[in-house]
Amino acid sequence: MNNHELWQSVLAQMQFHISKANFATWFQNTEIISKEDEKIVISVPNAFSKEWLNNKYYKLMLKTIRDAENSIKELEFVIKPQSLKNFAQKEEKIDSKESEKIDAEQLKFEEFKINKETSLNPRYTFENFVVGSFNELAYAASVSVSENVGNTYNPLFIYGGVGLGKTHLIQAIGNKINDNLKKKKVRYISSEKFVSSIVSGIRNHNIDIFKTTMSSIDVLIIDDIQFLAGKDKTQEEFFHTFNSLYEKNKQIIISSDRPPNAIPELEERLRSRFEGGMIIDISLPDYETRLAILKTKLQEKNLKLPEDILEYVASNVKKNIRELEGALNSLLIYYKINNRIPDLEITKKLLKNFIFSPFNIANYKKIIEIVAKFYNLEEKHLFNPTRRKEIVRPRQIAMFLLREELKYSFPAIARKFGGKDHTTVIYAHKKIFQESQENSKLNEELNVIKQRVYSG
Ligand code: ADP
Ligand code: MG
Repeated sequence: MNNHELWQSVLAQMQFHISKANFATWFQNTEIISKEDEKIVISVPNAFSKEWLNNKYYKLMLKTIRDAENSIKELEFVIKPQSLKNFAQKEEKIDSKESEKIDAEQLKFEEFKINKETSLNPRYTFENFVVGSFNELAYAASVSVSENVGNTYNPLFIYGGVGLGKTHLIQAIGNKINDNLKKKKVRYISSEKFVSSIVSGIRNHNIDIFKTTMSSIDVLIIDDIQFLAGKDKTQEEFFHTFNSLYEKNKQIIISSDRPPNAIPELEERLRSRFEGGMIIDISLPDYETRLAILKTKLQEKNLKLPEDILEYVASNVKKNIRELEGALNSLLIYYKINNRIPDLEITKKLLKNFIFSPFNIANYKKIIEIVAKFYNLEEKHLFNPTRRKEIVRPRQIAMFLLREELKYSFPAIARKFGGKDHTTVIYAHKKIFQESQENSKLNEELNVIKQRVYSG
């Protein structure tokens, strides 16, 4: 690897660890200017960058470099303001044929302006939302809500694991309504923002202002409602907001990382309100959809990558759509900086972090941890020899999953659970299996748990 390639691989890795904005700020005008036996010298555009990289990213960069060049023991940063110029010159060198394929400008991280009134991000639309079997119901319901505001599914409750498109979808509804029906007051709010508004309203004795604002909304979109778990005061306020809107046929759209009946410490009255509407999940995209998503994202940027590269990404990056985008971006950054399409080998290198991430693999520890967390228990509770229903059930589910997902033998599972008779395990497995066939709530729970086990 020459210096340039080496630095590329560092950049590609770094972007997985920091936000886009940070990446652009700290790394855009950096390069390796010399490599000695044990030391690499990196030029940075200013003192601020130098200090920041030295303090925050030194270890990570060194590690990435050492993965490629084991002999390196030290990094040094030097300030070289003109490196900015170099960068510009390099871009000018793109020959015309290349520039047909790649418009460097388009690779700049797109910044969309959040609408001040609605808090919606205009980048989330139905048009750029790829539909597959994993999300088609959620998509159809969302479109329907955007066309029949307040009259079809109310509330619309969409749940699923992280990075699977919940925020995209519920904001797309908002954007659509906002475009079509200018008079409707649409408002997107994250649950965290909702909580902090309530808290500061109480502290500053002006909660009525917040309440009035809320009750004047026509379409309320509230994201990640699971954050309200255990926050009693906020739940109470939300309940009132909900009711006042609902009674007026105003549309309420909610997202969550799990179904209402699986949110711990959610007031019963809220749960039953949510269950009175439409509840739909988004699951994991399959290979074909992952490929389609990659192609759509490329098309948006007016770019092409060879089929074999796309297939490699789609078959290896499976955790969620956000990761898929991250993987694609790292290829595009390589493309931009090197002015060359990454081949399969380079792609493999660039995506190392995704492919070998432990995220896509289930293991014993994860199953136990996630089952316990899901049922709001401590892990050790699962191993208690108690017959209490609220523990027996999760324990049976853990046993079931160890068998189904890891193919553990019944005696092996029995040993894990303190040497129980293995017929107990067989019984647990059969019971959960049969029930999951008939009981859609249990089936739903199993799906959420599995999704979490496989998505880290
Ligand atoms: P969540 O809210 O479920 O964590 P997001 O809505 O933030 O997930 O989605 C993560 C990223 O993936 C976003 O950039 C989003 O635009 C993109 N994305 C998710 N689902 C799709 C889809 N079906 N088609 C295109 N892009 C998607
Ligand atoms: Mg989200």
